[in-house]
Amino acid sequence: MFLTRRTFVKYVVALIGKFVTVLCGVTACRRSRLSPRQPSSGKAARSYRRICTREEANDPAYIHLWCNGELQARTQYLWDQLSACRLCPNRCATNRHIGRKGRCKADHEMVIHTMYPVYAAHQTWPAQPPSALITFSNCPLSCVFCKNWDASQKSVGKIYGLTESAIALLHLQNIGCSSVRLNMPTPYLPHILSALSIAIENGFRLPLHYRTSGYENAEVLSLLAGIVDVYQCNLLIADSAGAQELMGPCPQYPAVLHRALMEMHRQTGPSLFTPAGKLRRGISFEHTVLPQNTARGELHLKWLRKHIGTNMPLRLNGTYQPAYQAINHPAIARRVHSHELSRLVQTAKQLGFSNVSVDGT
Ligand code: SF4
Repeated sequence: MFLTRRTFVKYVVALIGKFVTVLCGVTACRRSRLSPRQPSSGKAARSYRRICTREEANDPAYIHLWCNGELQARTQYLWDQLSACRLCPNRCATNRHIGRKGRCKADHEMVIHTMYPVYAAHQTWPAQPPSALITFSNCPLSCVFCKNWDASQKSVGKIYGLTESAIALLHLQNIGCSSVRLNMPTPYLPHILSALSIAIENGFRLPLHYRTSGYENAEVLSLLAGIVDVYQCNLLIADSAGAQELMGPCPQYPAVLHRALMEMHRQTGPSLFTPAGKLRRGISFEHTVLPQNTARGELHLKWLRKHIGTNMPLRLNGTYQPAYQAINHPAIARRVHSHELSRLVQTAKQLGFSNVSVDGT
């Protein structure tokens, strides 16, 4: 059966119409997941009055952003980015709204690997409340030595809807967690902020910490100002050639990291501590020492001293063990020797770092 030209055009127009309807439906549906700025009636209006007319001094800053609609506006902006995703520095421009997977293997749904409360290794009396750790699956980097490779590279995890995630946040608050640490959340920022809005409406108040490798798009990070209190940055390989060889196609890692750190520092300002000595606002750093000084930690320390300072918490980790594909790379196919760790500890002392903790040999 042959179609006449006229019938063919009619079909095409009808098809485009259907596509536009579905697209509008998806957008409207996404918008409806966000809280209105100042709802005039119903349950939403009652929540708005309850939360926003009695803002308290120790409320997290995101409450204020939620009340004035800024949080919802930023969330919407981030959702819009998913049609040609540029959330991380890979900027792979994948249309994740229609279920395509980006270079990080994330699509339109949020996948969480694990979620649980973490208690301090050495408990004091009275006992310190735990902090909640949420690890997300799929990572923009492809480090051959990743110890969470099942989450970061193999997408292992469970899909969480927005309401389900909000309920999980409220549950972590109800069981006594003092903060929520979002571990490698970049590909899911729109989902996380949407879930946060729903949770706020239902009484969520915990401060958010953002755990990252520093491979972040600084413009996207700037949208987290006033939402994240503490950044925990894991400093990976400090020279471009090493990063290119062992962390996937990211030759710009050191430059990207530096831009991201400047943005984090701009947002949080100088470190603020609780009376118990915990970081309340600021950036804490961790650096895992690799065998044969492959990660070039001294370059990170020199940069930090010059651009950010030396009094923020810095953890030097000497517990590296070859994981994932590290065994195929002779330079990092063994554990770290104690003298390799001590050399970096010594360098940190000489450079004047005053808040250093050391793990391992
Ligand atoms: S977050 Fe994932 S999909 Fe988005 S730009 Fe990065 S790699 Fe691509």
